[in-house]
Amino acid sequence: MYLKQIEIVGFKSFADKSKLVLAPGVTGVVGPNGSGKSNIADAIRWVLGEQSVKNLRGSKMEDVIFAGSDMRKPTNLCEVSLVLDNEDRHLQVVFDEVTITRRVFRSGDSEYFINRQPCRLKDIHELFMDTGLGREAYSIIGQGKIEEMLSTRSEDRRGPFEDAAGIVKFKHRRREAERK
Ligand code: ATP
Ligand code: MG
Repeated sequence: MYLKQIEIVGFKSFADKSKLVLAPGVTGVVGPNGSGKSNIADAIRWVLGEQSVKNLRGSKMEDVIFAGSDMRKPTNLCEVSLVLDNEDRHLQVVFDEVTITRRVFRSGDSEYFINRQPCRLKDIHELFMDTGLGREAYSIIGQGKIEEMLSTRSEDRRGPFEDAAGIVKFKHRRREAERK
């Protein structure tokens, strides 16, 4: 599995529809300060279901929507899609390509889609559980993640290892079963 494409519209500094096409292997993003490099990482976090505005470097969820500039009016919605190559079936669905999308309007809640079909945030979580790519997985190593791995609390350190070992799904199912 690899990240093939990122489509961003109305997210933070990306007012216009932008399509980033990635090849397998390593991709570097370069640009001057404030040009939007970290906003790309924020967009990836956000579409994976990030709910914490702090992790998205904002103070309220609306901060992810393009706020306008001298030349342009603010936008009313933002949408981010990730297209993942799934030919190796790393994600346990029958599709060669999986597109996940999150959309939010200034007025309301987020909408989520898998291959353009509306779904719940829970479905996105479950799709990525134990793949290393979920919201809380280790695919995005931010500063906080490094602190977590160096933490003296064993519970903090254990999280990324559980995800890599592929047991998060089972723990999650057990919790769900216990709640019923
Ligand atoms: P650095 O090299 O300093 O880390 P960077 O390329 O990572 O810079 P980002 O942090 O991605 O830059 O982008 C910051 C820019 O995004 C700022 O100019 C900020 O005004 C803009 N920005 C953030 N949120 C919004 C928003 N909601 N609407 C419009 N612009 C925004
Ligand atoms: Mg940055």
